[in-house]
Amino acid sequence: MHPIKLVLIAILIYIGYRLLISQFRNKSDKNDSKVENQKDDQATDIIDTLEEDPVCHSLVPRAQAVRLHHDNKLLYFCSDKCCRKFLDQQGEQS
Ligand SMILES: [Zn+2]
Repeated sequence: MHPIKLVLIAILIYIGYRLLISQFRNKSDKNDSKVENQKDDQATDIIDTLEEDPVCHSLVPRAQAVRLHHDNKLLYFCSDKCCRKFLDQQGEQS
């Protein structure tokens, strides 16, 4: 077989492969979120890791959480309010 034919076949296989993948992705995207397409795209960036708020025990995305270094640990709170509440509780204990 001519070497250029091999290259052409390889390119065709590659293009076909890419088309199959893009079609598959489009289908699964549409099934998951028809209404909130844009929101979902942004959300996947923000919701990386969920951390538990030690005060109200709600799960907070790490990127949005209020952070506090306490006893060599990094704590995550849903809001300033919970952070202050936590500090108040620590003050009462000691
Ligand atoms: Zn909270």
